[in-house]
Amino acid sequence: MRRAFFLDRDGVINVDYGYVGHWSEFVFVPGVIPALSRLRQAGFLLILTTNQSGIGRGRYTESDFLYLTARMQRSLTAQGAQFDAIYYCPHHPQAQLAAYRRPCHGRKPQPGMLEQAAGDFNLDLTQCVMAGDHASDLQAAAAAGVERLYLVGENLKTEAVLVPGARCYQDLAALVAKEF
Ligand SMILES: [Mg+2]
Ligand SMILES: [Zn+2]
Repeated sequence: MRRAFFLDRDGVINVDYGYVGHWSEFVFVPGVIPALSRLRQAGFLLILTTNQSGIGRGRYTESDFLYLTARMQRSLTAQGAQFDAIYYCPHHPQAQLAAYRRPCHGRKPQPGMLEQAAGDFNLDLTQCVMAGDHASDLQAAAAAGVERLYLVGENLKTEAVLVPGARCYQDLAALVAKEF
């Protein structure tokens, strides 16, 4: 069985300006690309799990998201830091667009995306790691059986109290430098 490092996107990989749906708004968090490369070298599969209710809310389209994703992957690949898989959930129970309006087991804090990845890659979830900038990221991972949980980013104060077992770092670069 394999092990993966699960990552949230907005606020971890890129600066979270709110509903980032276009490549022109996508700014990598400083230091994140070498950190991802380091994790690949350490033998982790890199798996992105991202709630994208902006699609269901009509803030940007699914094809906008896929275009941004392709550009992001191209940049990362050039530096040996690409994701092995990307899972996203476009749904929301109150989505403006009816096609996306439903509760979804994939939407964090539900564990659906991580469970899907575990099946797709034959992962031992107890050996996997999750880094996110919101409690809901870590709650999804915990619900899937991931035990090693890291909170990073600008929301540490408000989010850390919600996940008592989480370890906290300013960003992914600091986390990786210290622990991997
Ligand atoms: Mg986030
Ligand atoms: Zn979904």
